[in-house]
Amino acid sequence: MKHIGECMPDLVYTNLNKNYDEEKCRVCGAIIRFYRNEYKKACNECGTWVFYRARAKKSTNRKTTCYICLDKGIVEYPVQKDGHLYRYVARCNCPKGMKWPASIPLLIECEYSPKPEFIEKKNRMLTNTIPFAGKG
Ligand SMILES: [Zn+2]
Ligand SMILES: [Zn+2]
Repeated sequence: MKHIGECMPDLVYTNLNKNYDEEKCRVCGAIIRFYRNEYKKACNECGTWVFYRARAKKSTNRKTTCYICLDKGIVEYPVQKDGHLYRYVARCNCPKGMKWPASIPLLIECEYSPKPEFIEKKNRMLTNTIPFAGKG
């Protein structure tokens, strides 16, 4: 699987060399750094406990524009045949799907793919269960 669609110039504050997130202590103004797996810590300057504020970052928390492919550009769908489930891959009709090679068939061209409405419904149900999703 290629990592297409990982260019996100809109997130200016995301520094790739940084492995922590900063939060300002609202009591004393000191900068608190949350490293990976850290979500709360006491301020070094004034001892105030600060809880990490989840914000949109990386691809996991971005606002989804296409719920059919979840902005991946490709969709995987199952077909049941002879009692077995087979998985097929198709390109989405959205702009993200156009970035994939034309050798991958478009979803609408696939005779045995579920209607996009079904895929969208499933994805919306899935994404609603992810914590913090939906909040910008
Ligand atoms: Zn402080
Ligand atoms: Zn799409």
